[in-house]
Amino acid sequence: MIRKGRTHASSPDSPALRELQDEGQRSVIRIIFAVTGLVLGCFCVMQMAAGNFLFAGFELVCTVGLLYAAWRVDTVRNLQLWIYGYIFSTVAFLIYIIVMPGASTTAFVWGYIVPVLSYLLVGRLKGALITIAYTALAAFLYLRKREVSLTPSDMIDLGNAIGCVVMVMLFVHLFESRRAAAHHRLQLMARTDGLTGVATRGSFQQYLDQCILESVRSQNRFVLVILDIDHFKEVNDRWGHDAGDQALRHICDVLGQRLRNSDTLGRLGGEEFGLLLRNTDRFSAEPLIEYLREHLCRNPLNYRGHEIPLSATFGMAEWPLDGESSEALYRQADRRLYRGKEAGRNQLISEDVPLNQSIAQEGGVA
Ligand code: GH3
Ligand code: MG
Ligand code: MG
Repeated sequence: MIRKGRTHASSPDSPALRELQDEGQRSVIRIIFAVTGLVLGCFCVMQMAAGNFLFAGFELVCTVGLLYAAWRVDTVRNLQLWIYGYIFSTVAFLIYIIVMPGASTTAFVWGYIVPVLSYLLVGRLKGALITIAYTALAAFLYLRKREVSLTPSDMIDLGNAIGCVVMVMLFVHLFESRRAAAHHRLQLMARTDGLTGVATRGSFQQYLDQCILESVRSQNRFVLVILDIDHFKEVNDRWGHDAGDQALRHICDVLGQRLRNSDTLGRLGGEEFGLLLRNTDRFSAEPLIEYLREHLCRNPLNYRGHEIPLSATFGMAEWPLDGESSEALYRQADRRLYRGKEAGRNQLISEDVPLNQSIAQEGGVA
């Protein structure tokens, strides 16, 4: 899981991730609508052959409606409404064929698709509720219609029907729980850097895109900072790769201690990190970054009894002053970071000033 105090932002169910999930759900629903429509179409033909024209007509209407829905499902806005409309109609239809006069004696077996459909479409909790409500209602109506006595053979019939639906529900529940847990783990792995526990480059980009969208709406400024560890190659060369790895974790810990919950720290690659400071401007962010820079210098890594000094150079860009797109902000922050490197490292560059002036301000805000 993302280690506490490191990512510093609410769950990144980013628009991109939500879009992907939405796309997946729509394709499942399309298949369900299309298959249901085709199955009903086959029954429509059989009902016609059996001379049940009224029922055949009803099934024909449902077939056409479901195939139309399957075709349109990619573009509809209120998908949840469509899902609940489908589940409600299917359950109502299945209940009806249990109680309808002259129904086939095996018609009730269709009821076993209710747990599968509801778990697939609305997840564990709502799926379980729908299945339990359906089973209770179907059993009640079945008992009323058939006037089942308490003879052993009737009890076996009832036991078959209810026992099977309970088992199907249990297995589907188990399957869905494991699938949801695996999905959650995969999501976390995709957005958490394995070494440091902060956001990965991809998920940091999603936070940034989301932040830009929110800021366009609210017109609240925010600040992007890119920082690069100074002379990190020397840490690896002198103390070994393991010390380098520990240094990266240590840096994230030290920075994470001083960030707000609304700030996001991400590893952009190697020993380069991104910081997203929401609802703030350059003037408010500068003292915090200066503090972080000094805090890092004051907290060397303790590695096997040795103190390894660490420092970083920071480049800052403010939305929308320095750019309105993520590319423009990265470009500006990156440019300033490298000006800081050229000017002697271990400093923050937050605005464009002539290079010779920034060199003169050694170790401070330029
Ligand atoms: P500068 O002050 O100019 O940034 O110098 P630098 O030495 O930090 O920069 P350079 O890009 O030359 O070196 C970065 C080093 O970071 C090289 C690479 O081996 C090391 N590095 C990148 N990722 C990791 C990692 O995951 N673990 C460890 N231990 N080292 C890493
Ligand atoms: Mg470096
Ligand atoms: Mg670097």
